[in-house]
Amino acid sequence: MTIAILALQGAFAEHAQMLEALHVDSVLIRNLEDWDNYIQQNPQHQGLIIPGGESTAMTRIIRDEGLYEPIRQAILKGMPVLGTCAGLIMLDPQHLNTMDITVRRNAYGRQLGSFNHVADIKSIGKDFPLTFIRAPYIEAVGPGVEVLAEVDGHIVAAHQGNQLVCAFHPELTSDTRVHEFFLSLVK
Ligand code: GLN
Repeated sequence: MTIAILALQGAFAEHAQMLEALHVDSVLIRNLEDWDNYIQQNPQHQGLIIPGGESTAMTRIIRDEGLYEPIRQAILKGMPVLGTCAGLIMLDPQHLNTMDITVRRNAYGRQLGSFNHVADIKSIGKDFPLTFIRAPYIEAVGPGVEVLAEVDGHIVAAHQGNQLVCAFHPELTSDTRVHEFFLSLVK
């Protein structure tokens, strides 16, 4: 199994390190050629991670590189995807438009731009160290979306079929359980 990591900008290297710790191969996707090669060479067990970063910049580059439609179609056809922070934003109706969530960007304001928290994540486990960096939260979810975690009454993790998103950064901790859960969707 090899996982594709969208590497246009942001915290993609940390996801690659996380997968390495789990003895899973990954390939960085920087352009359409990388993506086409990934799809051809991995006809089975495909999976995509969209990292944190800056969703406006990521959206511009994803379009410039011709990756917008290929990635959107792959997700709609069922490719498992893990979106963290900006990667969560990327799946909402304003961006790739694959997940039925309403997202508030930079939801914690400047003062609370970055903070840590501990919470349980439904279906995945208890007492996760959660790292938020200028994070979004999910304001509302559609009927097909399962809420997995909340912090102070705001949704910070959710799951809709093949799509798993979190507002925090599991790749910046040593806790591998979110990635392991994602890998279980790929298998
Ligand atoms: N604030 C960023 C955005 O709106 C997300 C921050 C992050 O990914 N750490 O895209």
